[in-house]
Amino acid sequence: AKKICNLSGFDKVLPMNTGADAVETAIKAARRWGYRNKCIPKDKAEIIVSKDNFHGRTTTICGFSTDEDYKDDFGPFDGSFRTIPFGDPESLQKAITPNTCAYITEPIQGETGIIIPPKGWLKEIQRICKENNILLILDEIQSGLGRTGKNFAFDHEIDKPDGLILGKALGGGIYPVSAFLSDDRVMQYLTPGSHGSTFGGNPLAAAIAIEALNILEDSNLAQNSAELGTYLKEKLEDLNSPYITEIRGIGLWIGIDIDTSQVHPKTLCEELKNVGILCKDTHDKTIRFAPPLTIKRSDIEWALEKIKEVLCK
Ligand code: PLP
Repeated sequence: AKKICNLSGFDKVLPMNTGADAVETAIKAARRWGYRNKCIPKDKAEIIVSKDNFHGRTTTICGFSTDEDYKDDFGPFDGSFRTIPFGDPESLQKAITPNTCAYITEPIQGETGIIIPPKGWLKEIQRICKENNILLILDEIQSGLGRTGKNFAFDHEIDKPDGLILGKALGGGIYPVSAFLSDDRVMQYLTPGSHGSTFGGNPLAAAIAIEALNILEDSNLAQNSAELGTYLKEKLEDLNSPYITEIRGIGLWIGIDIDTSQVHPKTLCEELKNVGILCKDTHDKTIRFAPPLTIKRSDIEWALEKIKEVLCK
C-alpha cells in the first residue's frame, strides 16, 4: 500500500482483483461520497462518463457503455449515468446537475483505439470538477504504470485526480491485481463490511504488485516507454505504408488506423502474428501496439522489419 500510495500521491489504496472490480469500487466510493458529503438525495446520484468508454464488463459498467454489442440483452440498466463526448470540457460543464457526484473517464481511450484528447483537456476538466464539487476519477487500467511515458497519464497535465483506478500492469501481466486509490476525504465513507472481496489484496497478489512497482521504478520503465515509444512511432511513420491512414501514440502505446477499403485490421493482425508480432485490432479500423515496457531498442528494430514485411507488401 505504501509503495503505490507514494508513487501516485494518494492516502489510501483499496486492492481488488480485476479491472472491472476496481471500477465498481470507484463507483461505490463516488456515490457514498456524493450522498454523505454532498447530501445528494437518496438514490439520485449521477455519474458522468465519456462516449466510447471502455471500463469493463459487469452489468453496471456495460450499462453505461455506448457500444451496443456490450449491452445487447444484458439490461435493464439503471439510467443514472450521463454520457458526454470524450475530450470536450464544455459538454462536461453542461452535463453537471446538483446530483452529480463524479466524472469517471479514461485519460486516453485505449480500447477505442488510443484516442488522445486535446492538450489542456485534463487540466480544464479538473478545474470544472473542482468548481462544481464533483470527483474526477481516472481509469488508468491501461494508461497507468509507465505505458504513456510517465508513471500515470495524468502526470502529463495535472498533479493528481480525486480518484485513480489501476489494474493490468499492477499484476505484472500475470496475476489479477487491481486497485482504487483516493484520499481519506473520499475513502472514509467505505466503512468495514460495506465493500470488500475475498481475494482482494491477498498475499500473493500483494507480493506481485510490489515487485511490479519495484521493476517499474528500478528499471525506469516510464522513461524507456517515452524514449522507445517516440522512436517506434517515428519509424512507423517512416514506413509510408499504403494501408495506414493515421498513427496516434504516446509512450509505448500506438494505434494505427487502417484503410479498411483495402484490408480489415484483423487480417493484418493475423499476418503480423504469423511473423511473430502480437497486436490487437480494435473497433474495426485500428491496430493497437502495446509492447512490454521492458522492450529494448534491438527488439524494436527486429519488430519494425517484421511490421514492414506485412504493412508494406
Ligand atoms: N478499464 C480499462 C480502461 C480497460 O482497458 C479494461 C480492460 O481492458 C478494464 C477497465 C477492465 O479490466 P478487466 O478486464 O481486468 O476487468
